[in-house]
Amino acid sequence: MSNNGIVAGAVVDGYGRIHRALRLSVTDRCNLRCRYCMPAEGLGWIPGDDVLSDDECVRLVAILARAGVTEVRITGGEPLIRPGLAELVARLRAIIEIGEISLTTNGVLLADQIDDLVAAGLDRVNVSVDSLDPERYAAITRRRDLERALDGLAACERHAQLRPIKVNAVALRGVSEHDVLPLAELARQRPYVVRFIEVMPLDAPRSWTPELVLSGEELREMIGSRWPLEPMRRERPSAPATHWRFADGAGEVQFVAPVTEPFCAACDRLRLTADGQLRTCLFAEWETDLRTPLRAGAPDDVLERAVRDAVLRKEAGHGMSDPAWTYRGRPMSMIGG
Ligand code: SAM
Ligand code: SF4
Repeated sequence: MSNNGIVAGAVVDGYGRIHRALRLSVTDRCNLRCRYCMPAEGLGWIPGDDVLSDDECVRLVAILARAGVTEVRITGGEPLIRPGLAELVARLRAIIEIGEISLTTNGVLLADQIDDLVAAGLDRVNVSVDSLDPERYAAITRRRDLERALDGLAACERHAQLRPIKVNAVALRGVSEHDVLPLAELARQRPYVVRFIEVMPLDAPRSWTPELVLSGEELREMIGSRWPLEPMRRERPSAPATHWRFADGAGEVQFVAPVTEPFCAACDRLRLTADGQLRTCLFAEWETDLRTPLRAGAPDDVLERAVRDAVLRKEAGHGMSDPAWTYRGRPMSMIGG
């Protein structure tokens, strides 16, 4: 489909995909060092002056909202290490077009912040916990913070409006096989939907190989052979996860399989990095700089035009299934997962 990016109240790409969802990265820094994401020593962080201020985040989200974005997921890096996150949430909540605000966090700092975040207008939360075993959790994240992450998760249960609370678990072959059933059991025992995620080649150390991927199908079989699963309808066609309920009615698990079952055809996501670069795909090797024109005083319509032009250039898909495929762009923690 060819268009000029203008459909009433929507930002549309060259393939007719309407973009409703924004991943807003509020920092590239983190208090963990997950092996599939960051090296032990951390990364060269984005200089503080380059990180968007709250005013700048709010202005860009308002422009994106005017162009048709209705959902904002706050991410990073670890978003809870940004000072004053609840105030930013409250300001995003005041943007009338934004219907849902969610947060992806490692949960370590969540127990102390969740009440303020919910009071500010947070609607949903995903907490990343890859293992319920303290030693394996420490081996994956290089920090001994499992208990704090689980406390953060439990603190979310105080807020009925956050349900279903989601748990993100990245699966790594040779590491996660012992974690899959305990995590699935968590979904049976607690009000959590556990989402198993295939590991993607977005790690800063560039140590990903296809052999590391424990596929969505393998994960489904591992769980289904212990507790039979039945497919459910997706929340919406653009949702990246497939949804499965336990046949005995005890809960739900999901599988996000970007490597083996790409969902690019229905993608409705945009990403804004902490330093104000708009990205139309996790794997795009180009970005659109919104921070420079923003700081130079560009009016809203010029920034909106830059957004629409970028979206029109969005690729059909990530092309990972091509054996010649490589990715030379920024790692996940600098983009906003
Ligand atoms: N620090 C927060 C957290 O871990 O939830 C938010 C940012 S993190 C980049 C967002 C999500 O991306 C997490 O669920 C994390 O496990 C996942 N992630 C990070 N690196 C990944 C990779 N190489 N492949 C797949 N998922 C990854
Ligand atoms: Fe930090 Fe999240 Fe990356 Fe882990 S996945 S190092 S918690 S940004």
